[in-house]
Amino acid sequence: MGVYHITYVTELKEICLYFDGECQFSCHGCITHWHPEDCHLEESASLVKHQGINIDKVIAYLRRLSFKRVIFLGKEPTQDMDFLPLAKILKEKFSTYNIFLTNGWRYINDKALDEVCVSIKAITPQVFKDFTGMDKPERVLENFRRYVTTHHIKVRAESVLIPNYIDEREIENIACFISRVNKTIPYRIDAYIPFDNDRFPRPTTDEMNKVKAIAQKYLENVYVLHNGVKVRYPVTRIY
Ligand code: SF4
Repeated sequence: MGVYHITYVTELKEICLYFDGECQFSCHGCITHWHPEDCHLEESASLVKHQGINIDKVIAYLRRLSFKRVIFLGKEPTQDMDFLPLAKILKEKFSTYNIFLTNGWRYINDKALDEVCVSIKAITPQVFKDFTGMDKPERVLENFRRYVTTHHIKVRAESVLIPNYIDEREIENIACFISRVNKTIPYRIDAYIPFDNDRFPRPTTDEMNKVKAIAQKYLENVYVLHNGVKVRYPVTRIY
C-alpha cells in the first residue's frame, strides 16, 4: 500500500503518483510488475519498487514543487486506501486537477476526482478471462458507461496492443464499443512492452499505425504510444 514512486514534469506542472496497492486482475506482462517505474524518466528506470510511503511523506515531497495536475496510477489505485484521501487533500490544499488510471473493475465517484482513464483490456469474454484472470468484461464496460454519465468526471480510455493476443481485431471491437457510448471520447492505444523471454513481442511502428487507423474508423480522437513517439518534456524522479 502507499506511493512507491513519484515523477514530475516541470513544463506541465504535472505529478505522477505510483501506488502499490492490490489489483483484482493478473494481466500477462503487468507493466507495474515488470516495469514499475515511469518509462519516460530521464535517468534509467529501476526494475525494483521503492518502499511505499504514507500520505504525509508524499505531501512533504510535493510541497517543494509547483504543480497543478496529479495522475494517480501504478498498481490499481482504486484498491489502495491512500488513494482517495490523498486526492481529497491535494484538491483541498493545492487545488489540483486529479486524474486516475484504473482497470475499471470498481466505480469510484468523488468530487476530488476530475478525470478517469479506463483501461479496457479486452472485450471478448474468453480473451478477457485469459488475459486478466477474471470473468465478466461487461463489468468494466458498465463502469465505463457510469463514468461517462458522471458529469464532473471527464473520461478517457486506453488499451494495449499485444500482437497475436490483444490484436487489432480486439482493439477494433473495443473502439466500436467506445464509439457506441460517445465517439469523441479520447482513446489511446499503447504498445505492449514485453518482459525478458516473453512469448509476445513488442508491436512494430507499422502495426501501431495500422491499429490507429482501424480505431479511427470509429473514434474521433485516437492516439498511440510506443517507443517511436518522442517524449515532449523531461520527466524527473522525485521519489
Ligand atoms: S490491471 Fe494493471 S496493475 Fe492490475 S494486473 Fe493488469 S496491468 Fe497490472
